[in-house]
Amino acid sequence: ARVVGLGGAASAWMIMSRRPAFSLRVEDDVKLDFKDVLIRPKRSTLRSRSEVSLERALVTRNSQREVRCVPIVVSNMDTVGTFEMACALAPSGALVAIHKHYNLDEWREFSRLHPDVRNVMVSAGTGAGDLAKLDSILAACPTVTTICLDVANGYSEFFVEVVSAVREKWPRHVIVAGNVVTNEMTEELILKGADIVKVGIGPGSVCTTRKQTGVGYPQVSAVVECADAAHGLGGHVIADGGITCPGDAAKAFGAGADLVMCGGMFSGTDESAGEERARPDGSRVKLFYGMSSSTAMKKHVGGVAEYRSSEGKTVEVPCKGPAADVVQDLLGGLRSACTYVGARSIKEMPKRTTFVRVSQQLNTFFG
Ligand code: 5GP
Repeated sequence: ARVVGLGGAASAWMIMSRRPAFSLRVEDDVKLDFKDVLIRPKRSTLRSRSEVSLERALVTRNSQREVRCVPIVVSNMDTVGTFEMACALAPSGALVAIHKHYNLDEWREFSRLHPDVRNVMVSAGTGAGDLAKLDSILAACPTVTTICLDVANGYSEFFVEVVSAVREKWPRHVIVAGNVVTNEMTEELILKGADIVKVGIGPGSVCTTRKQTGVGYPQVSAVVECADAAHGLGGHVIADGGITCPGDAAKAFGAGADLVMCGGMFSGTDESAGEERARPDGSRVKLFYGMSSSTAMKKHVGGVAEYRSSEGKTVEVPCKGPAADVVQDLLGGLRSACTYVGARSIKEMPKRTTFVRVSQQLNTFFG
């Protein structure tokens, strides 16, 4: 072996060990996204879609509560995670993660006016102000029993400490925490007090994290690996982001998700809060943007701080009518997916699902 440019001890070491000073680490096993797989149909004893139950009853690991819902959660984005959305979706049983920018008075008013609307989670980041506000909302609204602790990067030690501290303070509240994409961090969050771990880094419709940072994990594989880790400890997972149609939600449940979180699917609905505009052709559109986009940062913190860049984008979405119709379409697709694989409930989906890898999902002949 000949090493050019290194003298003395360094070259002697490299020649002896025959190892490069730096080794590239690459995981070679294939990681899959929604677009890479389809669900293989299986023989089934189900006669009709009406025999499928889509309701879930999760008994949470740390807070020891039962969460009953249909397994769809609207994202805690200020465009879709609104009180209006919660009221509209309460009859369907879908959950809404209310965004963190409502103040205490708005929460009080919501609870007073809608005491029966219980399908909500209260969101908080990790700032001191966030946590103090969380405490006061929970104290003022005793019917709110689910907390969503939400940061873009759930891998920091500080975030884990926050999860522990909130668990200590609110032992009987359901804690959703994220986002992560790997088994070891899922376990860590559950052991530190999370009941439900939110899975997804970079798959969102208005997310640009993968472009800005190069960081991410294909969502189907992330869900499989995190669900396996969570279920091993008696915890649960939410597949968060990247769901573009009911089929993607079916794949997430097939991969082991207990709940799915959707933002973009609910954009443009009557109950979404984005600014509405008319296009030159007379059609109506609503603004939808990522919570790390410059639009959101301008709105909530006066602009993008100098030390960071925006990791979300802003889009115009055609107005699409009531959010309840989106839930019905999602549930209709899921019920059908269950009958294709012979699952009587969403809970049975992973046991009945075999994925096939594909190079093409759809026939695009008509666009
Ligand atoms: P969607 O259902 O629209 O594909 O994904 C929604 C999810 O995208 C949200 O629940 C949240 O986890 C994520 N998200 C929302 N805003 C942003 C953003 O500005 N940047 C990134 N990286 N993710 C976002």
